[in-house]
Amino acid sequence: QDDQFKKVISHAKEYGYVFQSSEIYDGLSAVYDYAQNGAELKKNIRDYWWKAMVQMNENIVGIDAAIFMHPTTWKASGHVDAFNDPLIDNKDSKKRYRADVLIEDYCAKIESKIDKEVTKAAKRFGDAFNKEEFVSTNPRVLGYQEKINTILSRMAKSLENEDLADVKALIEELEIADPLTGSKNWTDVKQFNLMFGTKLGASAESAMDLYLRPETAQGIFVNFLNVQKTGRMKIPFGIAQTGKAFRNEIVARQFIFRMREFEQMEMQFFIKPGTQQEWYEHWKETRLKWHLSLGMGEDNYRFHDHEKLAHYADAAADIEFKFPFGFKELEGIHSRTDFDLSQHEKFSGKKLQYFDPEENKSYVPYVLETSIGLDRMFLAVFSNSLQEEELENGTTRTVLKLPSVLAPVKAAILPLVKKDGLPDVARKIIEDLKWDFNVVYDEKDAVGRRYRRQDANGTPFCITVDHDTLEDNTVTIRHRDSMEQERVKIEDLRDIIKKEVDV
Ligand code: ATP
Repeated sequence: QDDQFKKVISHAKEYGYVFQSSEIYDGLSAVYDYAQNGAELKKNIRDYWWKAMVQMNENIVGIDAAIFMHPTTWKASGHVDAFNDPLIDNKDSKKRYRADVLIEDYCAKIESKIDKEVTKAAKRFGDAFNKEEFVSTNPRVLGYQEKINTILSRMAKSLENEDLADVKALIEELEIADPLTGSKNWTDVKQFNLMFGTKLGASAESAMDLYLRPETAQGIFVNFLNVQKTGRMKIPFGIAQTGKAFRNEIVARQFIFRMREFEQMEMQFFIKPGTQQEWYEHWKETRLKWHLSLGMGEDNYRFHDHEKLAHYADAAADIEFKFPFGFKELEGIHSRTDFDLSQHEKFSGKKLQYFDPEENKSYVPYVLETSIGLDRMFLAVFSNSLQEEELENGTTRTVLKLPSVLAPVKAAILPLVKKDGLPDVARKIIEDLKWDFNVVYDEKDAVGRRYRRQDANGTPFCITVDHDTLEDNTVTIRHRDSMEQERVKIEDLRDIIKKEVDV
């Protein structure tokens, strides 16, 4: 698992997808830059989301709110008071950890014991093995599961009650050690706010304290009435947006899974109070379908329904994805009631209500939210696509099987040799295709090596121009995943590519 993840990180660098920020100065922790291919992949994911959410839904519109917002926004939203992580320091190593993550990691270790039992039993029982039955009846597995549940629910309760002393007590009772040094000498647990502060204005006296937004959602809530009125939107309707968010994460690790500067794609769906349950089910299903449409394997997704809810929410679930380090949250679907709009009403003194012509009355709408991290989606797509394949001739190839619709480069045009006019024909094909697709030219090295390079880069098609092309205007088109080659007319290329890469 670790090895696979290391491969993902080094491949992302080697093929121009993700670099560490300011690498020449030894980097900045948990901050990353998207390189030439990464920027394209990221943009394609964003477009794929935007198309599904905004373009395909008559009642959802998109906005682009500023990162800076009036500071009262974050009082109203609860972030000033409650957007905290519980931190604990190790007195010997002087390292700082998130207390909840230490406890979750401890539980993950127990969970891996369950996995081992399952694997063992699967081997023993062969075809007759029924996983669900096994995990729900095997005493050892049930014991592990109960232990996990007890620990996690005690932690959730203590955090909810702000009983930080009990969180520390739990860490001590479980004898959790510093993962780096093994020391068990812990300080008390303290809350730490995750928002980045900054200042607006030049002079020291007049400058205003601001925060960099820790989520994009609030830009939608404060614009709710403006959009509803100017767009003449009728409930139910949604507002979508993508954009940067910032969190001073303490346990910032696992590459682009948890970053300090990241991008979110969020949609707030405004509904009539009382209809939240049906919309919650609707959006859970709709969002899962969106993920499955990329063809990355049904088994790689699962729902995690939250039992412990934030005080404003009446239902919440995560769509979890199987990352190289296990199932983790990829997207959240939250039924947020009228909490956010009511809070903004309270703090701004402005009415944020909708007049419902059918009901003939005004109310503060309820909100259903879907929230996904673009970078996390990038990691899901990238890590799932990177594969090593054994070929029939005994060699292996590295291939990045990105969904074609998301691939940064759709086709590489390769003249078989650098002479006899083949490069000119290749260039002409590029001139023609580049209006519709991102295509590249590559003439360096033997054609087999060029194929391998494009495989590793995730390019769905290689188009080779050879001497026959000069005679009959046909080229060889090679498919990345099957490695099959066909001879096709140049004039048909656009349609062939379009069929595969269009949504
Ligand atoms: P986590 O529990 O992983 O910290 P969260 O529950 O705080 O996430 P939300 O506040 O619900 O996350 O944010 C919605 C989505 O934004 C998450 O599902 C995730 O995809 C993404 N996200 C949140 N924090 C980060 C981060 N630091 N880096 C990258 N993506 C993030």
